[in-house]
Formats: sequence, structure tokens, C-alpha cells
Amino acid sequence: MSIPYISIVIPVYNEELTLPILFNRLIPVMDKYGKLYEVIFVNDGSKDKSQEVLRELFNKRPDVIRAVQFMRNYGQHPAIMAGFGKVRGDVVVTLDCDLQNPPEDIPKMLDLIEKGHDVVGGYRGNRQDLAWRKVVSKLSNIVRKRIMNIEIKDHGCMLRAYRRTIIDQIVQSGEATPFITVLSQYLAGNPVEIEVGHEERAAGESNYNLYKLIRYNFDLVTSFSVVPLQIFTVAGMVCSAGSFLFVIYMFARRLIVGPEAEGVFTLFAILFLLISVTMTGLGLIGEYVGRIYSEVRHRPRYVVKEVIEKK
Ligand code: UDP
Ligand code: MG
Repeated sequence: MSIPYISIVIPVYNEELTLPILFNRLIPVMDKYGKLYEVIFVNDGSKDKSQEVLRELFNKRPDVIRAVQFMRNYGQHPAIMAGFGKVRGDVVVTLDCDLQNPPEDIPKMLDLIEKGHDVVGGYRGNRQDLAWRKVVSKLSNIVRKRIMNIEIKDHGCMLRAYRRTIIDQIVQSGEATPFITVLSQYLAGNPVEIEVGHEERAAGESNYNLYKLIRYNFDLVTSFSVVPLQIFTVAGMVCSAGSFLFVIYMFARRLIVGPEAEGVFTLFAILFLLISVTMTGLGLIGEYVGRIYSEVRHRPRYVVKEVIEKK
């Protein structure tokens, strides 16, 4: 059996409508590129007919299509990780299923890999998403740049190409919640970023809502940086210093002015503020402890139900 040179990994969650369109656009592009390739779909426990559609696509092109089916929905990143575990190619490409990034941009990225870059990232020039999604992204980008020391223009853009060595390192790292785009950028020796097209979803609905996005960004920052903890330590020290001076001042007043009972509510206000800051700090520590917990637990990140591929 001939080994493919390029492996394309695509997570699939409820994409019965977009899969055939993707197939019809991606396959001609890759056939034309002229190198041996494979497309690995990972069905992340779709509740619609995605699995049937994948079977049809496999029957059309058993030479290039492979499909992994999960037991249930584990999330986009575990799905991509499962794909990474299966790749045979020397060059790996990740792509979303919904055609927001055009498969026609893939050859451009592959050319850059051939030129010696080990990671080629895409950034969405003319992003076609809802306004609030863009605002959340902008904010998260600003915070991330300050807190983490990784240059990446658009960590939400999954259209990326990588040398196999990078993928092997990501697989080996075996993190519970890997951030594939950021991690690959971090591991890269010679990365480059290019603008890629961005369209509205071909069909179906986005699988992200505001809550998922906030969680995602929180996870992202805590997984690459301990700066949030350090901010709390510094804030705690400043508060302590302030309180210390305040105690001395109050003690002096007690000696000079005598006992005073006024200002109880101011005291309450200060107390509530400090208690809520403490609680936030505890929550923050909890985030890190939770992360450590899920790392040491070593539970399987996903369970594969079925693999469709040419034997
Ligand atoms: N996806 C997945 N599991 C999930 C959610 C999404 O595999 O739980 C896939 C989805 O099929 C798509 C990609 O991840 O290929 C990106 O998802 P989506 O387009 O919903 O995200 P958005 O473009 O809105 O960020
Ligand atoms: Mg999308």
C-alpha cells in the first residue's frame, strides 16, 4: 500500500449538510495538487446523519477517505487529536468541516511547508462571523498577547499546515486540553502566518456559544501561563500592605481620639470587597488545580467506536 504524503484532519460534529459540499471542493483541489494524500474525518459523536454521509463519501473514494467515529461528543480538540494519532503523512493539514475556510487555500500552505516552514498558520482576513464573536476574539487576543508569550494572529483559525515532527510532539505531550493552534505555534521553529479566506458557514449552525467561548479562553490562558496567579499574588501583597498601614492608622486614632463606632458600613464595604477578591482568587487556584487533576487522572480523552478505512 502506498503511504500518503499529506494527511488532512477534519473534525465533524453534526455536519451532514456541509460534508458533501466539503467533499466536492476538497477532493478536486487535492487531486490537482498531485501528491498522495488522505483525508481523516473524525466524527465527534454527531447526532445527525453525519456517519451515514461519511460512509457514502468513503464508498466514493475509499483510496483517500478514512473516518473515525467517537462513542459520543468529546469536543473539537479531542477529535483533532484522534486524527493526529492516525496520520500517516509527512505533512499534516487541519481544516474545519463547515467550509468557513476555503479548501482552495490548502495548496498555498503546502507550498510554504515545502519552502521550509514547519508550521503554516492561517488568519482570517475578512472574518465572516457574528459581531459579538469578533469582539470576544479581539478581547481575548489582547489579553492573551499580554499574558502569554506566543505570537499568533488568530488562534481560532483551524486551517493550518504542519510538518509531521510538530504533530508527533503534540501527540506525545498528551495534554488533557490541548490548544492545537497555540501549541503548534509554540513548538514551531520556523512558523509563518498567511491570510486565508473566510466565509459564512456553508450550512448548519456554529457549535459554540458565549459560555463555551469564555470557558475556552479561560482554559487557554491557564494552560499556557501562570500570570493570572501572579497577578493575584501581587494584588494580595498590595492589599496587605494597605491594610497594614490602615491598622496602624486606626490604632493611632484609638489612642488619640478614643473609641469610635462610626463607619461600620464603610467597614462592611471594604470587607465584602476583600472577601470577594479572596473568593475569586480561590476560584482561580481551583482552575489550575482542576487542570492538574485532569492531567494526573489519565482518563481516556475519547473512545473510538468505529474506524472506516481501506483494509
Ligand atoms: N466540532 C467538533 N466537535 C464539537 C464542536 C465542533 O468536532 O463539539 C467541529 C465542527 O464540526 C467543525 C469545527 O469543529 O468542523 C468547528 O466548529 P464550528 O464551525 O461549530 O465552530 P466555529 O466556526 O463557530 O468556531
Ligand atoms: Mg465554523
